[in-house]
Amino acid sequence: MNQLAERLSRISEPQTIKMAKLGRELKAQGIDIVDLSIGEPDFNTPEHIREAAKQAIDEGFTHYTPVAGIADLRAAIVHKLKRDNGLEYTPDQIVVTTGAKQALANAVLALVNPGDEVIIPTPYWVTYSEQVKLCQGEVVFVPTSIENNYKITPAQLQAAITPKTKLFMFSSPCNPTGSVYAKEELAALAKVFDKHPNVFIISDEIYEYINYVGAHESIAQFGDLKNRTIVINGLSKGFAMTGWRLGYLAAPLEIAKACDKIQSQFTSATCSITQKAAVTALTGSLSSAYEMVAEFKKRREYIHEALKEIPGLKVNDPEGAFYMFPDVSAFFNKSFEGDTIKNADDLCMYLLHRAHVSTVTGSAFEQPNCIRLSYATSMDKLQAGAARMKEWLGKLQ
Ligand code: PMP
Repeated sequence: MNQLAERLSRISEPQTIKMAKLGRELKAQGIDIVDLSIGEPDFNTPEHIREAAKQAIDEGFTHYTPVAGIADLRAAIVHKLKRDNGLEYTPDQIVVTTGAKQALANAVLALVNPGDEVIIPTPYWVTYSEQVKLCQGEVVFVPTSIENNYKITPAQLQAAITPKTKLFMFSSPCNPTGSVYAKEELAALAKVFDKHPNVFIISDEIYEYINYVGAHESIAQFGDLKNRTIVINGLSKGFAMTGWRLGYLAAPLEIAKACDKIQSQFTSATCSITQKAAVTALTGSLSSAYEMVAEFKKRREYIHEALKEIPGLKVNDPEGAFYMFPDVSAFFNKSFEGDTIKNADDLCMYLLHRAHVSTVTGSAFEQPNCIRLSYATSMDKLQAGAARMKEWLGKLQ
């Protein structure tokens, strides 16, 4: 349809959403699919948070709120950033958004001019590059390797920076790899940024609580980087609240104001009821979040071992989030009954149609030798998924 704006041709629909759609279609045909493609916790939102939302409805808290969020929520976020991350912000530096995705979009729209370069280490979360392309920015991918647990090195960062670099975007814990940057690793990257004072950083910390190695670290904690870092976070993953649509950003005042202005012309504030629930989530007990993470940790141990037992898979060692990102290139050019695997896309389709296991191809995340598996599903499903994968991958000759 050639009436559509040209910008549509610059972006694509996320493969993650496409795989979920395909899996649903097969399920609707009565096929028993083990869905390991999902990017959301399989837990219910904790009860005290649900109760706060019900109370907000009953009290008639159902009207427009200030675009950047209600005062008590912004205060709760300021408190959270101090408590968990040692970061000092004022409430006017916080913008509450419709999911972390909108926080990212606000920040990219606020900073990226046509032709600006944006460095994204790969594999990366699919949305970053598409938002940059919508702003006519130039995406500069920096490939990382399984040997370095998919983390960018200071030397790679240094080599990628040019006079046109405006922004660096990354997530830790990372979707799709589960990698977590340690304090020393962030400190080493911070030293590179010190030499390039015009480069901004978007630090996506949405998986902060889903971390199996200890305290979460934010790059905004290093030196004066807070003055040019936009911290992105939200409640979707840590509090099992994906459908509520609550994200936020913390930024230097000028950038926060710009994000508020952009948001005021797109969506206004996020849902008033969700905001009340979020105050309770951020100021209340974190015990249900910890319980969920303890369960993810058990599943991670299981699936990590189970995948390591499948000949041909090269398995990474994720320290956070709920994804495994094995290298599957050993299966390329192998076949079974007329199905030939040329790449990770083919392998995903083979696993979906033959083993009835839904995963996501690594090419979606700019790492074409890998696939992503989510372990945000029950232990029974993980066991069935691992067994089916072992059986069907074993047939490829
Ligand atoms: N960042 C990353 C790395 C994610 O994986 C996701 C969700 N898949 C988001 C941001 C968006 O989260 P939200 O649901 O809060 O928009």
